Amino acid sequence: MRKKLVAGNWKMNMSLADAEAFIKQVVPSLESEAMIFAPFTLLPSLVELSKNSKLSIGAQNMYFEEKGAYTGEISPEMLLDIGVKHVVLGHSERRTIFGETDQMINQKLHAALKHGIKPILCVGESLETRERGDAENYVKHQLEEDLNGFDKVAAESIIIAYEPIWAIGTGKTASSSDASGMATFIRGVLKEMYGDVSEKIRILYGGSVKPANIAELLSSDQVDGALVGGASLNPDFFTSMVYQAEGL
Ligand code: PEP
Repeated sequence: MRKKLVAGNWKMNMSLADAEAFIKQVVPSLESEAMIFAPFTLLPSLVELSKNSKLSIGAQNMYFEEKGAYTGEISPEMLLDIGVKHVVLGHSERRTIFGETDQMINQKLHAALKHGIKPILCVGESLETRERGDAENYVKHQLEEDLNGFDKVAAESIIIAYEPIWAIGTGKTASSSDASGMATFIRGVLKEMYGDVSEKIRILYGGSVKPANIAELLSSDQVDGALVGGASLNPDFFTSMVYQAEGL
């Protein structure tokens, strides 16, 4: 059975002092696996503070090259060097604000898996695409492009996050049937690509998840957890969401 996972995406937020206080408060109460994806500058300290706990610390991005003249970028080896083994790739903010293409995301996914870094791959449609009735085609195309060239063994290490762009940071959430409907659709696409391995791949929902709606959004057995932005910055909210997900 797939275990529910709550992963926080802090985006470009948190001072070192606030981040350390967050981890010190949250870690002792965690009884099931959870993740925080933090800004690069916080990673070494947070990895240290969460050692031997249920909390894994990940990066929000990574470049696919190993080293060289790529000013401003961070390589897979640099993450491993400080003990980071998880990364979020293809977040819609990376795609829309920073122009990341499916081809780049595919290269990043290959680099992550080659180095044993476990990725969460984000996919999701804009409001315009959804209103055109094209959400499923759009997400299928993203999955096929981003996952190009992976075999079944590799696919098992990837977590997918379905994050409709219109629900990210807007306070608008998808209904639980939108979330479970798309998760079911995504699993169908993964089944076409990888057969029964699709049953082992976790599919998260992301988009304005908070303590008050997480239980409802994760109630379907097709939705294996949540990727949470804004509400993950509050340690009480984060703990509550992990606790609620664990009971589902
Ligand atoms: C996100 O950043 O992945 C996200 C889902 O943000 P929020 O929860 O704030 O909508």
